[in-house]
Amino acid sequence: MDQPPSLWRWRFMGQPMVSNPTGDAGVPEESAGQPLAFLPAASADEARFRPSRMAAETASGGQGKGPFVVIVRGRDELTRWLCDPPAGLQWLQVEGLLGDRDAWALAAQDLSDVPLDVMLSAPGAEFSNLYRLVEVSAAREVRVSVPAVPGFLKAVRLAASLGLSIRLLPGQPSAEAIQEMAAALELYLHDPAVEAPVEFFHSVLAWMRGAPAGSLWRILEEDPAVFRHEEDAGGRLRLPRAAQAPWQETAPPDVVQAQLARLVTAGAECATCRWRPVCQGYFKWPDPGYSCQGVKRLFSTLEAAAGEIGQDLAGCEGQPGLSGSDKP
Ligand code: SF4
Repeated sequence: MDQPPSLWRWRFMGQPMVSNPTGDAGVPEESAGQPLAFLPAASADEARFRPSRMAAETASGGQGKGPFVVIVRGRDELTRWLCDPPAGLQWLQVEGLLGDRDAWALAAQDLSDVPLDVMLSAPGAEFSNLYRLVEVSAAREVRVSVPAVPGFLKAVRLAASLGLSIRLLPGQPSAEAIQEMAAALELYLHDPAVEAPVEFFHSVLAWMRGAPAGSLWRILEEDPAVFRHEEDAGGRLRLPRAAQAPWQETAPPDVVQAQLARLVTAGAECATCRWRPVCQGYFKWPDPGYSCQGVKRLFSTLEAAAGEIGQDLAGCEGQPGLSGSDKP
C-alpha cells in the first residue's frame, strides 16, 4: 500500500527507542493533519463502494480521503479486506476471532501486506490461542492489543515470547491489574527475550530518554483528535472507553485538553503530578476520582530504567573502542 505508515506501524518498525534521545522514537507529530478513522467493516464496505461518501473523508472533516482502519469481526470480513485492500487502509482491527483457527490459516497466506491489530477481550482465557498468530506474523505485521484486566499477564508473557508487538490498554487499572502491570513492565525492561515493543512502556521510556512521545492518549491511540471512532452511520464520534463515560456522548477534538484543564482547575491529583506532560490525565478518565498511586509507581520504575540506560550510555562514551552496535 502506498499510504504513509500508521502510528503503531511507524513505532515498531522505527529506530531504536532508548539509545538515542534525539532520535525518531515515540509518536511522530501528525504533521499531515489527517486523523485516522476507525470504521466497522459494514460502513467501510459502504464507503468503499460509494466513493462519493468515503467514510474516511467524512471522518477527516471533509478534507479529502484520509487513512483509515477497518474493524472486522467475522472471518468473511477478514477475508474480503485481506484479499482486496483499498488505498488508504492502514490496518485491520480484528475483534473476536482469535478462537477461529481457519481465520488465522487464511491470514497466514500471502494475500496482501495488510497489518493486523488483534484485539483480546478476555486475555486470561484467550492467551493460549496466540500461538495461531505465529505463522500470521511471518506473512504480515501483527500486534496484539491487551486490556489490563486481571489475568492479562499470561497473554503478555506469551505474546512477548512469540515476538509479537503488544499494546497494553490500561484504562483505569484495578489494584490487581496494577500488580500484573508491574510484572509486565519488569518483563519488558529486563527479559532479554523480549524484542518487540510493549506499549505504553516503550514510548514512555523513549520519552524519558528525550524522544517526542505525544501523550499517553496518543501512544495508546485513544486521542479522539487523531484516532476517530465513528459511533454510527451519521458520523458521530465515540469517546475512548465511552461505555463507562457518564457525561459525554460525542468526541470533540480537544477532549483531552478540556478534560485535563478541568482536572487542574479543580485541584485534582493531576495539578501537581510530575507525569502530567506525558500522561495528560489519561488515568483520570472516565472516573476523575481514580487514585493514581499505582500507576505513578509504574512511571517511577520507567524513570529509574531510563536513568540506568543514561548511565550505561555515559559509561560507554568513556570507553575507547565502543561504538555503534557495541553500545547498549
Ligand atoms: S498519573 Fe494520574 S495524576 Fe498524574 S497526570 Fe496521569 S492521571 Fe493525572
